[in-house]
Amino acid sequence: MGRNRIRKRGKSINRASALVLLLLSIIMIFLIVQNNFSINDLTSPVVPLHKSNSGAPVKFRIVIDAGHGGKDPGATGASGAYEKDSNLSLAFRVNELLGQDPMFETKMTRTDDQFIELVDRSKLANEWKADAIISLHGNTYEDQEVSGTETLYEQEHSIALATALQNQVSKALGTRNRGVKQDEYIILTTAEVPAVIVESGYLTNPDEEEMLLSSQGQQTVADAIHKALKKFYKGKQPFHLTVPSESP
Ligand SMILES: [Zn+2]
Repeated sequence: MGRNRIRKRGKSINRASALVLLLLSIIMIFLIVQNNFSINDLTSPVVPLHKSNSGAPVKFRIVIDAGHGGKDPGATGASGAYEKDSNLSLAFRVNELLGQDPMFETKMTRTDDQFIELVDRSKLANEWKADAIISLHGNTYEDQEVSGTETLYEQEHSIALATALQNQVSKALGTRNRGVKQDEYIILTTAEVPAVIVESGYLTNPDEEEMLLSSQGQQTVADAIHKALKKFYKGKQPFHLTVPSESP
């Protein structure tokens, strides 16, 4: 009996410690799993695709920049027209198209003939955490024969957007596709968000200038930019939602 009792007590002690061990293991596993979940929560986007916290559709933020302005006229076209003016009227057309589309919200760097520093243009995009800044320009060259569309970028994260815009605009206008080029313009180097310069065509080429200054030509470019952006952002997460917000 005595022996049995001792053995029994021993057994129950073993059982109790096994139970404690089991409980500890469960707690450990729970903590590990819990910890993994919290790490995942930090790395995966908090907001589901195309939905804000309130459930409203998320808009892609596009800054539309009409190149030059005020004391800086930009290129002088074959007809003597200033680039800054056609850039502005094209910017209005793009802004109107994107503004009507629930997929986008826009800001313009200028809405009249004023000079704005290049760094202030990119700053607007940076502070707004825009999905892109698109700077609109017309090209220039000493040889009037030179023509075609080209799109400039500086940072790697802008190449895909530059390519999408380049191909759509060139195709729509039927211009020579000069491709995308890496360049170090201030607006491209100071932008922290994807940034491109679209040179729809050469204003120094008389035929191209005529097309780019015409209402039809401008609308063609604006439509192409809108179409390219719709295709490019389809199924994508807005850039401003992937940027971690600063802690309060
Ligand atoms: Zn320009």
